[in-house]
Amino acid sequence: YFNTDTLVYLDGSFVKASEASCSVFAQTMHYGYSVFEGIRAYKTPDGTRIFKAKEHYERLHFSCRAVGLPLQVSVEELIELTYRLLDLNNLQDAYIRPLVYAGSPNMSLTTPQGSNLLIAAWEWGKYLGDKTLRVMLSSYERPNPKAVPVEAKASGHYVNSTIACSDAKAKGYDEALLLDMNGFVAEGPGANFFYEKDGELFTAPPGNILPGITRNTIIDLAKEAGIAVHEKFFTPEVLLQADAAFMTGTAAEVVGVQSLDAHVFPKPFEESIGALLARRYTDLVTGKLVPA
Ligand code: PMP
Repeated sequence: YFNTDTLVYLDGSFVKASEASCSVFAQTMHYGYSVFEGIRAYKTPDGTRIFKAKEHYERLHFSCRAVGLPLQVSVEELIELTYRLLDLNNLQDAYIRPLVYAGSPNMSLTTPQGSNLLIAAWEWGKYLGDKTLRVMLSSYERPNPKAVPVEAKASGHYVNSTIACSDAKAKGYDEALLLDMNGFVAEGPGANFFYEKDGELFTAPPGNILPGITRNTIIDLAKEAGIAVHEKFFTPEVLLQADAAFMTGTAAEVVGVQSLDAHVFPKPFEESIGALLARRYTDLVTGKLVPA
C-alpha cells in the first residue's frame, strides 16, 4: 500500500515519499522517541471528510506534551494541511498517519529543541479485516503508566504491541488481548476492547489504556441507542460469562471477537450489540448518520 510517488507533508512542504529521508543518528531511530496518530478520512455525500480530525490532532498535541516533543503547528493548521495532502494525492477514503519525530542527529537522552512533522496518507482497508477475531490472552502486559505515559500515542509503546501481536499470530490466533499491570483486561495491541453481558457493554476505564477516539464514539453511539456502557476494571475470568465481545480503533473500526483462547463467545457477532454499533459507526463516518 505504500507508493513512493505518493506525496507526503514534511516540515513545511509536500515532497515525494521517495525523496524524504531521516538521519541514521536520529533519536527517533535509536530510542523509538516519536509520537503519532492514526486518522481516517471517508467519502461522504459532502465530499471527503476527516473523521474526528480535531480530536485526533488534539491527542497528537497531548502526546507531544507528554513526551516533551515540541510541535509548533496548531490543530487547525494540521487539519488544513491534511485536507491538502488528501487532495494532492487524490485520496477520498484514506488512512492518515501524522508523525512528530526527532530526526536530527542527536544521541542524547534529553528532549530535543526541535522536531520534525511528517503526514502521510494512503488507501487502507479495515486493519484487522472483516472476519471475527480469534483472540489470545497475551502473556505480555501493557506498558506500566508509572514508567511511560500510556495515554500518549508514543511510537516506543508499539514495541509492546508488535511483540504481543506477533506472538499471538505465531500461536495461530488473529490478535492479542493484553492485561494491565494489575491483571485487569486493558486492550489489544492497536485497539480497545469491549464485552457484552445481558444487553450492556463493559470496557476498561482510562488510566492503563490508550483512550481511543473510536472507543469514545462507540460509547456515545451506545448511549444514544439506550445501551448502558460501564467503564470499569475486569479480570479475564469475567469474559467466560460474557455474551459477545468486539474491538475498536480507527484503523480496525469495529471488529467482532469470536473467541478468547479456547472459549468461544456464545452470541454470534452478527446478532450482538457490537454489530449494531459497527453499522452505526459506518453510517456516522460516511455521513449517513448525523451526530446527535
Ligand atoms: N489502543 C491502542 C494501543 C491503539 O494503538 C489504538 C489505535 N490508535 C487504540 C487503542 C484505538 O484508538 P483510536 O480509536 O483512537 O484509534
